[in-house]
Amino acid sequence: MSTCYVCECRIINRSTVEAVTFAIVLVAVEGFYHFMSLLLHKYPTISNVYREHIILNSIGGKLISPSIICQSCAPEFDSIDTSLSNQLNFFGLMLNIKRDRGENPPVKARIIRTGDEISLNAGGKPVLIRPIIKENQHDGSISIGARDRKEMRIALKGLKRKYSFNKDIEALLNQANSEASYFDEPVNYNLLIDSEKQFRAICKMIVNFYMHNNGNREQILHLIPYIKDGRQQNCVWYYYPFDNLDLDKEPVQILHHLFIKTNSNEKLMYGFVELFSTFKFLILMSKNYIGDSLQYSYCFDVLARTPIASILDISLSRDSVLNIVESRENKLEQLKSNLNKFMLFINKKQANDCISHITQKAIDTSFNGLADGSVPSNDMMRALIENVSEEFAKFFHSQIQFSQENFPANNNYSGDD
Ligand SMILES: [Zn+2]
Repeated sequence: MSTCYVCECRIINRSTVEAVTFAIVLVAVEGFYHFMSLLLHKYPTISNVYREHIILNSIGGKLISPSIICQSCAPEFDSIDTSLSNQLNFFGLMLNIKRDRGENPPVKARIIRTGDEISLNAGGKPVLIRPIIKENQHDGSISIGARDRKEMRIALKGLKRKYSFNKDIEALLNQANSEASYFDEPVNYNLLIDSEKQFRAICKMIVNFYMHNNGNREQILHLIPYIKDGRQQNCVWYYYPFDNLDLDKEPVQILHHLFIKTNSNEKLMYGFVELFSTFKFLILMSKNYIGDSLQYSYCFDVLARTPIASILDISLSRDSVLNIVESRENKLEQLKSNLNKFMLFINKKQANDCISHITQKAIDTSFNGLADGSVPSNDMMRALIENVSEEFAKFFHSQIQFSQENFPANNNYSGDD
């Protein structure tokens, strides 16, 4: 029987009750069977099971435990989980990772040059939130960028009211160009950082992992008030023991890692959490640990969406662990360096995804109507080459332009970076 490690209630679902009933039916008196039947009739959905994502669903985690936290306790952690999600959602969105539940919500960003707000959707696709109206003071011209004809009409009506011009709105709409173009403006996105709550969410993640591995509740009891209310102790801090993000490796692996080590001689238990191969934390789980020396680890390939064998082993002395979490040395440079590398990878992945999309779209357009197994005609092949060449030319032009405008020192852009 499972127990919630927060409130110690028994975690039970209806199927468990049914199984117990069935067993009792076989051995017990008829009267007891009726009692259980009535109970089930009255409480048809007896269940306090909560499927806890040990690594947050919002960052692609798939490791789930239905037996560590009950349904009543789970919402108590929403606030800290949301805080961590708010910080990390952006990266899941940019990588366009799949989730167990729901979609990656879009985030708002601001175009640095104009200050206009836009939305970044899955894979970093920029989408206008509202029409962008540019009034040229020199020649008096006005240009409008809108998502569709309806939005353009509303913008034009507003301008007509403002300037009282006579032109027919529908005629103006018919003159508008409808085209898709690459967005080559740098944008600014503010990362929401509330370290205190995020540290508690990291602490909960590692405690979840420990309890998922049949951990002893007594050993982590002191951490529950900290996770719930932020009471007590500095027990989580940034920790960058290695850099395992290898951009030259094919395919590049972006990893979530969980690691716990217990040392019976030093009465120590500590954990390590790594998210997106970039955000890394050390957690002092207990300095009064009583039990065997053990080690647990879990590694998840975020892009392949599959667990992989973990080769991680972090051996630290009691003094080192205490020093790292208590001295709270500034680790901003390590965080920045890891983050820059991660963003380089995201940029490369988005470019590769765009190239795949161009190729697929060109094949679909050029071979439209071709029956399965048929050989494309010469005209179809010619159309394919023309489509691909034209779209690639636009794509690489936008890449070069962006690189030259935003990184003028790096003018020999090759398209590989
Ligand atoms: Zn509970």
